[in-house]
Amino acid sequence: MQQGSRLTDGSTDVVIVGAGPVGLAAAIELGLRGVRCVVVERNDRVGYSPRAKTTNVRTREHLRRWGIADALRKASPISPDRPSTIVFATRMNGYCLTRFENALNGSRARNNLYSEEAQWVPQYVLEEVLRARAQSLPGVHVCFETEFVSFAQTPDAVVSTLKDHRDGRTVVVTSTFLVGADGARSAVREAIGATMTGDGAFSRNCSIIFRAPDLATLNVHEPAIMYWMINDDVPSILGPMDEAGLWFFMATKRDVDPSATDAADLIRRGSGLHDLEIDIVGIDHWVAHRLVADRYSRGRVFLAGDACHLHPPFGGFGMNMGIGDAVDLGWKLAARLAGWGGDDLLASYEAERRPVHERTIAEAVHNYSAVSNELVRPALEENSVSGDATRREVADIIQAVKIREFRTLGVVLGLRYANSPIVVSDGSEPPPEHFMLYVPSAHPGCLAPHLWLDDGSSLYDHFGPGFTLLAADGDAAAAHRLRAAAEHRDIPLKLLAPRDARLRERYGARFALIRPDQHVGWRGDAVPDDCDGLLARLTGAAPAPAIQPINP
Ligand SMILES: Cc1cc2nc3c(=O)[nH]c(=O)nc-3n(C[C@H](O)[C@H](O)[C@H](O)COP(=O)(O)OP(=O)(O)OC[C@H]3O[C@@H](n4cnc5c(N)ncnc54)[C@H](O)[C@@H]3O)c2cc1C
Repeated sequence: MQQGSRLTDGSTDVVIVGAGPVGLAAAIELGLRGVRCVVVERNDRVGYSPRAKTTNVRTREHLRRWGIADALRKASPISPDRPSTIVFATRMNGYCLTRFENALNGSRARNNLYSEEAQWVPQYVLEEVLRARAQSLPGVHVCFETEFVSFAQTPDAVVSTLKDHRDGRTVVVTSTFLVGADGARSAVREAIGATMTGDGAFSRNCSIIFRAPDLATLNVHEPAIMYWMINDDVPSILGPMDEAGLWFFMATKRDVDPSATDAADLIRRGSGLHDLEIDIVGIDHWVAHRLVADRYSRGRVFLAGDACHLHPPFGGFGMNMGIGDAVDLGWKLAARLAGWGGDDLLASYEAERRPVHERTIAEAVHNYSAVSNELVRPALEENSVSGDATRREVADIIQAVKIREFRTLGVVLGLRYANSPIVVSDGSEPPPEHFMLYVPSAHPGCLAPHLWLDDGSSLYDHFGPGFTLLAADGDAAAAHRLRAAAEHRDIPLKLLAPRDARLRERYGARFALIRPDQHVGWRGDAVPDDCDGLLARLTGAAPAPAIQPINP
């Protein structure tokens, strides 16, 4: 299959197209479950993209599960001491208007709601850490300079035609499944006949990456991860990419084209630092869309990440949501390959992820509706009584309209799969949805509520790689009966009964079955008589059995 660095004709379990963050996340999720996969990437390395900076709480929890949360912390070129603050100012040498602390939950203080804080780190650094982890797994092969060209499907397999750009060879790989994590212009999406629907290209934008070692000292504001500059000259956003003078800059007036302007001049005008020495490192053009694919799969071929959803980057959701796709799809593909995943399991991928995509995209589009240029007012930069009053007025508006972009836990952790065909309802009402506020709930479909245990460990660290039966104060014999039923179906299931009085209350039941992705699949005060029926339902092997709700 792979000889040295050369890919040869052969077979594997899963072909993944694209070694962006989503393809690499899928490879790790699969590789850790013993699944063989080949990742093909047409570029010669990862890390071309300077785009994402927000690795959110949920993605970092996945990194923790994959054993690389600390590696990313260490790899970051941004100091862990930099406060997770967002400053709104007129310019880098102008008036401070207002600020948001602990933005995006990046503060390192321990929080009972989650096991990992968010991290401000360039996407190319995250990709490097993901690549190293993927390549450390015995069944995972990442092949650079290799392009996916086409596929054909038979009832049992996908036959992919790939092109090795180093020597022009055509390579044919047969796999049981194929994942298209090949980004916005996905060839896999086209090949399965899916189309993006929604609003395409509603604005054209660009980020400028530049080096300016003096900027940190000329900045009159406190250290922060982002500076929103509100002025009528070049309303814009600026932030650090490292601690040594590398920055990004984005003019928020739509359809500004720095290739038609002088990029350094744009930065100087926006920041107010007219003498700043600037070395332009690169310009990254991007287009704001609001698009979702009309189908996420065909037969054995699935789409994940930007290949099936695109939206403006405000709120920092795109990559993180794509990594969530890789996790959902990853455990399900692995379960099918291991034999314990049922015939209906893979259909639940789209059923679960599409509502999450739609809700998150709506939030990103909402955030994009209030950018720096909409906050500009006459007199904002005047040194006068009327200037002071205007700045106070704008600060109030910013606090009112921008807060939900930086307090995103309701979106990031509040996602739920309550209507999924493989989640068993307990008859209770799901918790209310809120975009900012996250109220932990073990309502089936929700993320398992997190807890720091008395020994300082995270509850999540004790979950198994397969299912986990969490017994808060339940009957041990019943728990063993469920485990025996799981063994009978070859479903990996760990029994977990931490001595912690808070669990019963936090989970609202004596037992909860946690899925491999840490979402609750079922909860109840008693293990049902029909354990086999419950497990069949949770693994997509059977339609809904008659399970008694805990609150009939
Ligand atoms: C300005 C900006 C800021 C952003 N900030 C954030 C943020 O803070 N947080 C966040 O979560 N998201 C953010 N995003 C979004 C994020 O960058 C994307 O959602 C993310 O890169 C998508 O990852 P992906 O792996 O799906 O696709 P990509 O990153 O596009 O990777 C796809 C890969 O597939 C490869 N490929 C394509 N076709 C083929 C083929 N035929 N054969 C082989 N390989 C192929 C490509 O070379 C590429 O490496 C931002 C986006 C922009 C524009």
